[in-house]
Amino acid sequence: MRVREDFPMLESRMNGKHLVYLDNAATTQKPAAVIDRMTQFMRHEYATIHRGVYTFSQLSTRECDLVRERCRRFVNAERASEIIFTRGATEAINLVAASFGRKFLKKGDEIIISEMEHHSNLVPWQALCEEKGLLLKVAPINDKGELLLDEFEKLLAARTYFVAITHVSNALGTINPIREIIKMSHHAGAAVLVDGAQAAPHLKVDVRDLDCDFYCFSGHKIYGPTGVGVLYGKARHLEAMDPYQYGGDMIESVDFKKTTFAKPPAKFEAGTPAIVEIIGLGAAFDYLQKIGWEAIHAHENELLDYATQALSQIPGLAIIGTAQEKASLISFVLDGIHPHDIGTVLDQEGIAIRAGHHCTQPVMKHFKVPATARASFAFYNTREEVDALVKAIHKVLEIFR
Ligand SMILES: *Cc1c(COP(=O)(O)O)cnc(C)c1O
Repeated sequence: MRVREDFPMLESRMNGKHLVYLDNAATTQKPAAVIDRMTQFMRHEYATIHRGVYTFSQLSTRECDLVRERCRRFVNAERASEIIFTRGATEAINLVAASFGRKFLKKGDEIIISEMEHHSNLVPWQALCEEKGLLLKVAPINDKGELLLDEFEKLLAARTYFVAITHVSNALGTINPIREIIKMSHHAGAAVLVDGAQAAPHLKVDVRDLDCDFYCFSGHKIYGPTGVGVLYGKARHLEAMDPYQYGGDMIESVDFKKTTFAKPPAKFEAGTPAIVEIIGLGAAFDYLQKIGWEAIHAHENELLDYATQALSQIPGLAIIGTAQEKASLISFVLDGIHPHDIGTVLDQEGIAIRAGHHCTQPVMKHFKVPATARASFAFYNTREEVDALVKAIHKVLEIFR
């Protein structure tokens, strides 16, 4: 794909070597289209939204509304008012735990998560369970890193009112059979939040086809800026939920005796939002649409196959996460070598990977490793970069063996 020139950062050098950026599951690089749109907006269009009667404020408001509409299309929601701008996936999940969980779950009710959740989709539910006396159940995975669907189904009980589950695992790459999970959960009477932080960069998301109750993702992992994320929620839930934070821009009327709240999405967007970042996110949606999902899938799947093949041939290397359905990331360990040492040697070769527990300590525990090295690919990565990775891993072996 001829996209590398769209990303200024990919021309960088790191430790004197051409940057090979393979940490896309942590955050993606930004195309010039996003950077330029944000700069243009700050230089020539910037003003606050909602409050101003003057022209620039009205134009800013309109631009942000247009991004909400583009986001509606991006996830195929029915209405733009079902799209809430948050600071990221983490805040979106905390919002649902606080505004939906606190209000509708009662002592003794149950929440199901999975063993492969990012801490962001684990800790908020755990805290809610402690606060309200709920039971947190964990759906197990197998040694390929796949969710055990029949075990999941067995966990669904009369008092299971909520399921919070990831669409794609950030530590293993596993793509969960999310439609089936949602169907089973609804059948048992549970509402479902899907953590789409790792899915939105790789798959076409269709919240109406999935029929999920909530879906969230982060701007910075889909080639947009940090500081902005998206929560989709079904209108009837958003209308019934209480606000998450209180302040300006989320009220209908305020009086010392009683305040009434605005309708969604404003109800959940207290305070001045990340205006510039929202504008940047809009440019990221446009950019992704221009590239197209088909081209993204074809390239990323090809890279994943190529890299899996190449890494598998390295002696002592074990891939952690070998699910049938996988997104383009590979977690691995090298026999007797700590992942941080791998990361450090690769850094000297100009290669950026992630080494650590990836905010998924239970996954590390399952596979009995303290950490993994993780190479995660975007559509701008190339076979040559995979070759560079393989070569550098051989260097690691030379140094530490
Ligand atoms: C990155 C990530 C999150 C958290 O996203 P933030 O942008 O840090 O809020 C949650 N879940 C998964 C699966 C992730 O990969």
